[in-house]
Amino acid sequence: QIVILRLGHRPVRDKRITTHVGLTARAFGAEGMLLASDDPKLTENIRDVAKRWGGNFYVTNNVNWKTEIRKWKEEGGKVCHLSMYGINLPDAVSEISLCEKLMVVVGAEKVPFEIYELSDWNVAVGNQPHSEVAAVAVTLDRIAGNDPLRKEFTDGELMIVPAERGKKVIDNRQEESQEMCREE
Ligand code: SAM
Repeated sequence: QIVILRLGHRPVRDKRITTHVGLTARAFGAEGMLLASDDPKLTENIRDVAKRWGGNFYVTNNVNWKTEIRKWKEEGGKVCHLSMYGINLPDAVSEISLCEKLMVVVGAEKVPFEIYELSDWNVAVGNQPHSEVAAVAVTLDRIAGNDPLRKEFTDGELMIVPAERGKKVIDNRQEESQEMCREE
């Protein structure tokens, strides 16, 4: 069970990148994202994509990060904060992979120092600055037991049929399920 906690989202500036954090988390096997800011439109957009493409990914808007971390730990969960200042992921991955209930915390701008203290691991995806989207993708991929790229998403309205060229999408909303080419 993996959940992402997104901190420091600024509704105008971070709209795109927070959407990508959510979609990447979903695609790489997280079960949900908690947004520690108020942006109902953004959370609705991610829910919409998740509904169209299947699976049970959830997004919760406007959580209090301290409350969520406390609750998570009370329930026996562990917290992994992604920061370029942390222990490099290859040196922590074997330990983190054993965790059955993991909250992955990512920031936008500077994160409150308390996060470093509350987290069980402060982990760097390489000790160089890059992006929360890349950090989430690489972390979820490295800690996974089963290859997240093989994950199947059930009950979606749309499903891609991998193709060497072009775009093949099954649209389950059509009365008779059919393959069609479409721009998504
Ligand atoms: N200077 C900022 C800081 O204090 O970490 C960097 C902010 S960065 C644009 C936004 C988020 O991306 C960070 O809070 C962190 O979660 C993630 N991030 C960026 N580079 C990372 C790295 N090398 N390893 C892990 N996470 C990283």
